[in-house]
Amino acid sequence: MDKLKMTTPLVEMDGDEMARILWQMIKEKLLLPYVELKTEYYDLSLRSRNDTRDQITHDAAAATKKYGVAVKCATITPNKQRMAEFPWMTEMWKSPNGTIRSALDGTVFRTPIIIDAVKPVVKNWKKPITIARHAYGDIYKGADFVTDGPGTCTMTFQGENGEEKTVLVQKTDGPAVWQGIHNKDSSIRSFARACFQYAIDTKQDLWFSTKDTIAKVYDGHFKTIFEEEYERSYKAKFEELGLTYFYTLIDDAVARVIRSEGGYIWACKNYDGDVMSDMVSTAFGSLAMMTSVLVSPDGTTEYEAAHGTVTRHYYRHLKGEKTSTNPVAIIFAWSGALKKRGELDGLNDLVAFGQKLEQACRDTLNAGIMTKDLAGLAEPGIQVRAVNTEEFIDAVAERMG
Ligand code: NAP
Ligand code: MG
Repeated sequence: MDKLKMTTPLVEMDGDEMARILWQMIKEKLLLPYVELKTEYYDLSLRSRNDTRDQITHDAAAATKKYGVAVKCATITPNKQRMAEFPWMTEMWKSPNGTIRSALDGTVFRTPIIIDAVKPVVKNWKKPITIARHAYGDIYKGADFVTDGPGTCTMTFQGENGEEKTVLVQKTDGPAVWQGIHNKDSSIRSFARACFQYAIDTKQDLWFSTKDTIAKVYDGHFKTIFEEEYERSYKAKFEELGLTYFYTLIDDAVARVIRSEGGYIWACKNYDGDVMSDMVSTAFGSLAMMTSVLVSPDGTTEYEAAHGTVTRHYYRHLKGEKTSTNPVAIIFAWSGALKKRGELDGLNDLVAFGQKLEQACRDTLNAGIMTKDLAGLAEPGIQVRAVNTEEFIDAVAERMG
């Protein structure tokens, strides 16, 4: 059998720990037998980031901009504990995902992988709900303090051009707590553009919700910028594709989401997205069944699994034990990236291969062959065979055969 050919390289970012082990197995057993993979490889393992003083992460981001499509493995974000674990580390390197997101000015879209064998907790959800979380500002870049006695708090802005604005925040009669938050028009605009673009790419409706009845100026500003972008750049395309852009209050959105069938993108402000993505992903099943896509306003796309490097499993693997780590989200990161590459380059066979690989995963799971994280969630009546990592990948490979 002739292997599928690629024309443009895919940017491949390798990672750490168990995710790196899965990465290798997936390439070897599910991709390389069928595709003449053409990738530009960047090793984003912690060791390599340390050796290059993190230049490798910046290079990988630049390559993603150049080629337009990337696939990324989970990577360690160092913290104090990791500094102690790896004495050779010379600096507490920043989160690669943060670096890449800034470089691409991107928005992260998280989508659950739905299978018949594991039904979501919310019975009427039939299609995935994709959450887009704005990842800049608001309380995540807030300034706050507490005060001990009565007094007055004001907020002042001093423009570099001499403009000055002051508002009274509140006069208080006793101890109080305060917070100043902001967001940038440029960031809100990029967020809006990435959301509209991704809705068009995936042919799904876009919902956006804020609390603009209360935060009339603050949240109202988000609403206005979304409307401006929609009217100016996306309305015609949405109408052509029969898609809807729908703005509603966050309270109303929550109620509608629960009653819906799914099948749309829900754009959320930073905090709402933080909370709602955890709720939605838990209701759909397992973190190991969640994909994550970073999209920049110009449509550049990076695919990955939403889970991390699965450290606990990795330590068992190092001791020679068999792990039952779910590779599905990483497989879908690869299939997503290959499908996108195929679409951009007009390679229908590559698109079809991506679809086939996803179907092979679904078929395997629906046949009851599952890793341990899913085994306990399977619908009654399904004969579950809990397998280890390699057995699962082999079962998918068999269905690809
Ligand atoms: P994690 O790697 O997602 O794992 C947390 C737990 O979730 C695991 O211990 C495991 O539970 C379960 N789990 C996650 N993925 C699974 C899979 N594919 N199959 C089966 N079970 C799975 O999160 P973490 O332990 O908080 O973080 C570990 C490292 O990953 C950290 O260094 C962090 O910086 C990094 N991280 C990277 C990314 C990224 O690159 N995008 C994202 C998040 C975290 P059990 O142990 O109970 O089986
Ligand atoms: Mg959260």
